[in-house]
Amino acid sequence: MADVPGLPPPSQLLIGLARLGQAVRMEAWRNAGPRNLSPLQADIIGLLHGSRVPLRQGDIVSALASTPPTVSDAVKVLRRKELLEAARDPGDARAVLLTLTPAGRDEAARLNVMSENLGGAVSALSPDDFAAMLRGTVTLMRQLQDRRSIPVSQMCLTCRFFVPDAHPADTGRPHHCNYVDAPFGDAELRVTCPDHELPPGPD
Ligand code: SF4
Repeated sequence: MADVPGLPPPSQLLIGLARLGQAVRMEAWRNAGPRNLSPLQADIIGLLHGSRVPLRQGDIVSALASTPPTVSDAVKVLRRKELLEAARDPGDARAVLLTLTPAGRDEAARLNVMSENLGGAVSALSPDDFAAMLRGTVTLMRQLQDRRSIPVSQMCLTCRFFVPDAHPADTGRPHHCNYVDAPFGDAELRVTCPDHELPPGPD
């Protein structure tokens, strides 16, 4: 029997993921909004909005796998647009801590509304396919984080509150979040969560 033509399945998966990434980035360019945000500026707003604490510029560079000059330029523009404010870090006189202004929080709320294109595409997935895709995504992210190919994100798989398969699989909610003391399923796995905490390191 002849092989199915084309590149092997792992390459097909990676090409597909790259196409999806392009679609998300294209939507970010289209969603510049009244303040004409670039995708990086939008990412910085999203990151600060998802953090319970102010962030240093270096935190943003690490989290977004960017470079200090690129983030510095974007932060300057966001401050000029009055979406970010900076305060001296009490722990380090040379560092500044960045937070969103009220206008920045409004922009974050606007950015959190998924576009019709992306929302429509995601809603076409069946519940089972959605859960499987989210599970596959966090598994790939975890592998790439362990290989230091992408920054560590605040996701369930690296969280000290996450207990996988704590409950019977047939409940549909096999995992447990000790932060809220509640079971949840693959479809509710978080790739970013404001309550995430890394496990304590070895003594
Ligand atoms: S606190 Fe957030 S990241 Fe941690 S297990 Fe709960 S939902 Fe997941």
